[in-house]
Amino acid sequence: MPTAQEEARVIVARYTGPSCKLCRREGEKLFLKGTRCLTEKCGIERKAYAPGQHGPSPGRRRKVSEYNRQLREKQKVKRTYGLSEGQFRSTFDRVRQLPGVAGENLLAALEMRLDNIVYRMGLASSRKGARQLVRHRHVEVDGRVVDVPSYQVRPNQVVGVTEKSRDQMSVRASLEALSRGAPVSWITIDTKKASGTVTERPTRDAIPIVAQEQLIVELYSK
Ligand code: SF4
Repeated sequence: MPTAQEEARVIVARYTGPSCKLCRREGEKLFLKGTRCLTEKCGIERKAYAPGQHGPSPGRRRKVSEYNRQLREKQKVKRTYGLSEGQFRSTFDRVRQLPGVAGENLLAALEMRLDNIVYRMGLASSRKGARQLVRHRHVEVDGRVVDVPSYQVRPNQVVGVTEKSRDQMSVRASLEALSRGAPVSWITIDTKKASGTVTERPTRDAIPIVAQEQLIVELYSK
């Protein structure tokens, strides 16, 4: 479990403690640390049990309440996208008014965040890295610098690296990754221009996240 100090950090802002603890708490890989997540150094590969001082407890089974299932699902999705509770809740409040299935609308809104699009394009190996690229003003949308990670990208908008930033070492490494192609069907990549176009708002089956988003809707509807 996160220590009291780490819990305090969660309350004041986004969680800044060890990322691997979050995966271990949720019992699955959330891919928060980029390439490390694909190696044997992955925290959950090394300690496949929830964090805490006493290690794994084989044979101990706790009955999981409905509330707990809903809460864990919300925490998992929130942590996957690296949001604070306030950011996550306000995203939900915004999309719950929209027509359609609330849970699917929530995931689509999270996917259309600028930091997530940069991550999906392959410009960063984690959402945290993508957020840093955006914050450091390396990213533009339709030719204009946008340094707000939560910016909602719209269909047909073009996301790219600013011309000024293309020669910088960190960004150059990102551009090399970009040439490996788009991992999702709804973003097309133009490697020559170092940019990607979001072709549509993704439907649920085009979002590669394993989650039961209806549990989050139930939790927030109480
Ligand atoms: Fe999670 Fe990545 Fe750490 Fe593995 S290495 S536990 S996937 S953050």
